[in-house]
Amino acid sequence: MKLGTKLIHAGVEPDPSTGAIMTPIYQTSTYVQAAPGDHKGYEYARTQNPTRNALQNALAAIENGKHGLSFGSGLAATDAVLKLLTPGDEVIASNDLYGGTYRIFTKVFARYGIKFHFIDMQDAANILPIVNSQTKMIWIETPTNPLLNIIDIAACAVIAKERKILLAVDNTFASPYLQNPLDLGADIVVHSATKYLGGHSDVVHGAVIVKDDTLAAQLAFFQNSCGAVPGPQDCFLVLRGLKTLHIRMQRHCENGEVVAKYLRQHPKVGKVYWCGFEDHPNHAVAKKQMRGFGGMISFTLKDDSMDAALKVLSGTKLFSLAESLGGVESLIGHPASMTHASIPREERVKNGLVDSLIRLSVGIEDVEDLIEDLKQAIG
Ligand SMILES: *Cc1c(COP(=O)(O)O)cnc(C)c1O
Repeated sequence: MKLGTKLIHAGVEPDPSTGAIMTPIYQTSTYVQAAPGDHKGYEYARTQNPTRNALQNALAAIENGKHGLSFGSGLAATDAVLKLLTPGDEVIASNDLYGGTYRIFTKVFARYGIKFHFIDMQDAANILPIVNSQTKMIWIETPTNPLLNIIDIAACAVIAKERKILLAVDNTFASPYLQNPLDLGADIVVHSATKYLGGHSDVVHGAVIVKDDTLAAQLAFFQNSCGAVPGPQDCFLVLRGLKTLHIRMQRHCENGEVVAKYLRQHPKVGKVYWCGFEDHPNHAVAKKQMRGFGGMISFTLKDDSMDAALKVLSGTKLFSLAESLGGVESLIGHPASMTHASIPREERVKNGLVDSLIRLSVGIEDVEDLIEDLKQAIG
């Protein structure tokens, strides 16, 4: 079955009690048993919920995995994956990560004796000198946030497999429409479903998808034991969002291309980061592992001052100034003061995340209106 069909049908059966075509929001905390242990597969809603199950099955299907697990947020999903580790273990992570991921690594899990190495993974061979017998996980995000670098998932998977290291890929930016890390050899896919999967900026949600049964059982154990589960209404919203992911992504890609090309020829714009450009340093890898280039774009201004950036950020009318991404509406953001403020400035600038960097999540509005908005804001 192809992706568009899976997005609409996978995991969703008519409700057994009424035939409702849409999975009901099972707003319940517990389930009645006929006799102790005699139940219909559901005992308590932290452990099992039919709305969540439908979504989890859909998530597994669209990432070509076997098991999907839903969490209360993307970071709760990341938290569950990191709990696979024990003190003394080491993680090799890419150095251009979502700020909250960097924070949970360095400020939470580092306190429990897990060591994190941050390196430039645009060349996967950079991983090799850091690997040792304690290395248990490689963590990548591609395209990276906010610099839209591309990491070769298959190349990382070869290194990981040979050494029995788990490869986890945060696939939030690409979504399963553009890329399926499990097909490229990754062991674990993580999503902030708050973004493209939900797609309507109305829910915070996270997901983990795996193929391996043992890994799935461990993650389900953490999901239930630690309890960062989503409510059924949130699961319903993500399920509904999924049904249009393919057509939304198609338009995000089309609009992204037009906006990236417009910015690139603008006399006041400095560097434009978008992996669809043929001279993007990792364009060849993007072409190989992705089915399109998405609607995330970052750019700097030739006037590299904070003031110039702030003027653009407060000057757009259709692009709303807000954190997050992946919704139908266009957003504009300032990584240095918003999404990536938790990374020390020195660290940020070293990696190219300068003060004047602006990030766009190009929505699915009519692109002529988006261009008009940028034109008046940049001046
Ligand atoms: C937003 C985001 C997260 C965190 O997800 P939440 O749902 O906000 O907890 C993780 N990774 C990436 C790439 C993100 O954009």
